[in-house]
Amino acid sequence: MLSKEILKELGNLSFSPYLVTTLYLNVSPLLNLKGEYKIIWKDLKKNALDSLNLEGEVKRSVLSDIEYIETLIDQSSFGSANTIVLMSCSAKNWYYSIPLYPTLKNKLILDKDPYTRPLGHLIAANRHYYLVILSKGDARVFKYFLGEIREEGEIKEEIPKRHKQGGWEASDWQRWHETHVIWHFKEVAEFLDKIIGEEKLILGTTSPKNTSEFLEILPKRLHEKIIGEIPIELDSPIKEILEKTHNLIEEYEEKEIKDLIDQLIVANAKGKEATLGLENVAHAIHQKRVRTILVYDQFEQSGFQCPSCSFMSPYLETCPYCNVKMEKRVDIVDELIEEALINNTELRYIKKKELGEKIQNIGALLRF
Ligand SMILES: [Zn+2]
Repeated sequence: MLSKEILKELGNLSFSPYLVTTLYLNVSPLLNLKGEYKIIWKDLKKNALDSLNLEGEVKRSVLSDIEYIETLIDQSSFGSANTIVLMSCSAKNWYYSIPLYPTLKNKLILDKDPYTRPLGHLIAANRHYYLVILSKGDARVFKYFLGEIREEGEIKEEIPKRHKQGGWEASDWQRWHETHVIWHFKEVAEFLDKIIGEEKLILGTTSPKNTSEFLEILPKRLHEKIIGEIPIELDSPIKEILEKTHNLIEEYEEKEIKDLIDQLIVANAKGKEATLGLENVAHAIHQKRVRTILVYDQFEQSGFQCPSCSFMSPYLETCPYCNVKMEKRVDIVDELIEEALINNTELRYIKKKELGEKIQNIGALLRF
């Protein structure tokens, strides 16, 4: 599961004077029925080799990175991953790969460090969720992030069974049994209260009665975190648990994004606190005015960046802020997002092309 810790570890690596080759390749089985990604890889490779301006050992290392990556692409199958991230520094015998569920833009980068910017953006733009599957004497808690799920804990309680014993009436047993169930639910609620901060919560329901009793005990703060329920069994296979959780989250997030897009369009039409399109958003980011940035996840655009103040534009070659010649950039969208994140902007990705088109692929809600 992708995490800030992984990013930090990658960020601490240094193989100087050698370079690290990093590839992001969309290998989605749905979009690559005939292995089309192999053609995209060949294009990326050609562009990189054409502009390769290296010599000696450093060059040899990069060439052998490319050979290594090509072998992987030719031989591997990437399972259900939609994006595969491959990193390599052959001179130092260092190789790393991350299969990811989200679809990232294709990129081949040669740099002093592993190119982790898209991973950082992914972490910034996405939320963690918890799922709790609840039954009378047992509960399982899972954490979901970026299309992956991991079990975080199990909470068990010895619930006394009713059996024949002198002295106790059936109603006493019933009460004793129910008391234990409530204790169990309390323990589960306390566990969740401890681990849930910014995350949202999904309830896995094995019976409506359990869920409604549990909700009575759950602190109000956690009620507000619940985004929905899924019917599931405690011992359902992990594949089913992931699928049901994932579908609920996708639906929830799509609605959130649609609402944000509507909000953006309305505010922009009224001429207040919102702007659409790359050029306008670039100015707003430069002026540090962006509160939330909304961008289609496949949007890329070449352009120019000012070496002095970092302003970016898809077409201006001279910086309007400092009147100096700007430098060419292959994709200014990721650079803009990076700039926005540095200034504490909230980032959200739009996954559907037609939704992105509503706001010219990029839009921003402004602070003032
Ligand atoms: Zn400038």
